[in-house]
Amino acid sequence: MSLERLKTTLQTLGLHHAAEEIVHLWADGTPAQTKPLELFDRILSHEVEVREARRRATALKLSGLPRGMTLETFDFAFQPDVDRDRVDELATGEFIRNHENVLFFGPPGVGKTHLAVALGVRAVELGYSVYYATMDDLMARLKKRAHLPVAQHRRQAYLKCALLIVDELGYQAFDRQETHAFFQLVAARYLKGSLILTSNRPARDWVKIFAHDELVTTAMLDRLFHRSHLFNIDGRSYRLKDYQTALNEPPAS
Ligand code: ADP
Ligand code: MG
Repeated sequence: MSLERLKTTLQTLGLHHAAEEIVHLWADGTPAQTKPLELFDRILSHEVEVREARRRATALKLSGLPRGMTLETFDFAFQPDVDRDRVDELATGEFIRNHENVLFFGPPGVGKTHLAVALGVRAVELGYSVYYATMDDLMARLKKRAHLPVAQHRRQAYLKCALLIVDELGYQAFDRQETHAFFQLVAARYLKGSLILTSNRPARDWVKIFAHDELVTTAMLDRLFHRSHLFNIDGRSYRLKDYQTALNEPPAS
C-alpha cells in the first residue's frame, strides 16, 4: 500500500487537510517512531483543527464584529467597576445557552464596546452565531423591511443569530415607527436569543430616545432587564487616560 494511494483516498473523502498532513508526517519520518493510533489521531485532528479555524474566521467576518477588542486586551485594573469574575463567567457562554441578556451602561470611553465585542468574539470561538451592529446600523436594516413585521424578517441575522450585539444606544433619538420596530425585535428575541446592549444613557432616560412612548419603552426595558446581567460602569475614560494623566502630572522639567 502506498502513501500516494492513502493520500488519494483521504482526498476522495474530502479530507484534504488530513491528506496534506499525512504527506508531511511521512516526509518527516514520523511514522516509524509513532504508534498507529497516535498517527490516526494526529492526521484526523489536523483536519478538524484547520476546519475549525476556517469556520471561526468566516463566522468572525460575517458577524460584523470590529477587530482588536478581546478579553485578553481588556485592562481590568484600569476599570475596577468591571468585576472580572462576572465577565469570566459570561465568557463561558452560559448566558447564551440560557437566552439571557447583558447590558452595559456608562459614559463614553469606559470600555462598553470593548467588552461587548470581546464577549462576541468569545461566543464565535465557542461556536455561536453572532451579529454585531450599532443601533443606527440596525435601525437602518430594520427600516429596509418596514413593510413586514419584524418577527417575519426571517433570514436576517439580527433576528436569527444566537447572540445579537447592539452597540451605542443613546446617541440618536427615534420616531414612533422606529421605536416600534426595535421593540418588535426585542420582543421577538425575548427568551429565544441573547442580546448584548451598550448605552451611554441610563434606562430612565430611554423614554426620551424612544419617541417619548412610555408604554413601549417600559415594555422594552421589561424584556431586556428580565434575566439580564447588568454592568454600570462609572469609571474613567480609557480614551482620555493619557490626557488625564498629563493634566494631573507636573510638567517634566
Ligand atoms: P465605550 O464604548 O464605553 O465608549 P470603548 O469600549 O469604545 O468605550 O473604549 C474606547 C477605546 O478604549 C477602545 O479602543 C477600547 O479598546 C479602549 N479601552 C477601553 N477600556 C479599556 C480597558 N479597560 N482596557 C483596554 N482598552 C480599553
Ligand atoms: Mg462604545
